[in-house]
Amino acid sequence: MLNTTFFAASVPPRPTGRYAHLILLRETDSYALFQTDGELNTARVHAGVGQSELLTRITMFKRKQTTPERLIGRELLRRYGFISTEPAPEGKERKGDERGVLIDGAGLPICDYNVEFCKQCPDCIAYGFAIGDAGSEKSKVYSDTAYSLSAFDVSHEAFTLNAPYEGGTMSRKGEVTSRINEQDHVRPQTLFPAVITVRDLTVSLFLYVLNNVLRTRRYGAQTTRTGTMTNHVIGIVLADGEIFSNLHFTQRIYDHLAERSMIDPAQPIALDAALNAAREVATILVKEDQVAVSQHLQGTTLANFLTDFSTRTRDEAGMHELLQAATRDSAAYHSAYIQKKGKK
Ligand SMILES: [Zn+2]
Repeated sequence: MLNTTFFAASVPPRPTGRYAHLILLRETDSYALFQTDGELNTARVHAGVGQSELLTRITMFKRKQTTPERLIGRELLRRYGFISTEPAPEGKERKGDERGVLIDGAGLPICDYNVEFCKQCPDCIAYGFAIGDAGSEKSKVYSDTAYSLSAFDVSHEAFTLNAPYEGGTMSRKGEVTSRINEQDHVRPQTLFPAVITVRDLTVSLFLYVLNNVLRTRRYGAQTTRTGTMTNHVIGIVLADGEIFSNLHFTQRIYDHLAERSMIDPAQPIALDAALNAAREVATILVKEDQVAVSQHLQGTTLANFLTDFSTRTRDEAGMHELLQAATRDSAAYHSAYIQKKGKK
C-alpha cells in the first residue's frame, strides 16, 4: 500500500524534498478541443528518442489539465460544506471569522476562484493562488504540457459544425447559410502520457489531488457532450526529487512500441499496448533518474490501493472524511504561515 510515512506531517514553509508523482496515461473518450484561438495546439518534435524522425503532436497545455481538476475539487468542497457557494460580497456585507477569513452568513469561508481566494482551503494551499498585492502562494502541484503519443494526422478530425435552418437545410430563400464553421477535434482514444508532481503536501492533501485527477472527466473547451477523458493512473512514485518529463516519457513509449512494430502510422495506438508499454517504460525511467525512490507503487499493489481508495470516495461519509482531513491540513498551514498575526 501507499507509504504514508513518506509524506510531511504538516505542510512545511520551505521545500523539504518530498515529491509524490502520479504517472498517467490520459485518454480521450470523445471528441475533444484543446485549442487556443480556434486552432488545436501542436508541436513538432522527435517521434522518439531512438526514432529520430520528426512528428507533429497535439499538445495539451498545463492549464488545460489542471484547471478542470481544480474545479472538480472545489465543487466537492462546496458540495460537502467546506467552502461557501457564494461569491465574495462587497463593502458592508463583508464579514470575517476569527482568522480574518471572509465568511458567508452561515460562517463558511468564501473562496471565489480567481476573484478572492480564501487562502486556507485545500484548493488554495495545494494549487496555489495569486491575488495581486494581497499575497500569493506557490502551487505545490506541478504539471507540464502533455503530448499526444500518436501523430497529429491520426489524432485529429476536422468537423464542419453547421447550424441548419428549421427545415434541416442549409439554405434559405435560395441563399446558402454562412453558419458553417470548421474545427479540428482530437479523436477519441488519443493518448497523452503525463506526470503530475505533488511537492511537500501531507498525505491528506495528496489524496485530495489524486481524487481530483481520478474524478475529472471534462477537459478542453467546454461543450456539454464532448471533451471527456479518462485518466489511467499507472504508477505513483515517492522520491526525493523530480522525475522524467512528459515529452521524454511520450518519446520513450513511442520507441518501445515502434521497436515492437506496434505503431502503424495510419492507425491510432491501441490502449492496452500503450498501457503495457507505459508501465514498462516508467519502471526503466524511474531507475534512470537521479533520485532516491522511496516507493514506486505499480501493478497489482497500485490496483489494490486505487480500488480501496475508490471504495472510500464512492461513499459520502468517506468523501466527507477525505475533504475534512485535507481541510484540517490546509487550514493548519494557513494559521501557521499565512494568517496575519495579531490581526483578528
Ligand atoms: Zn480557497
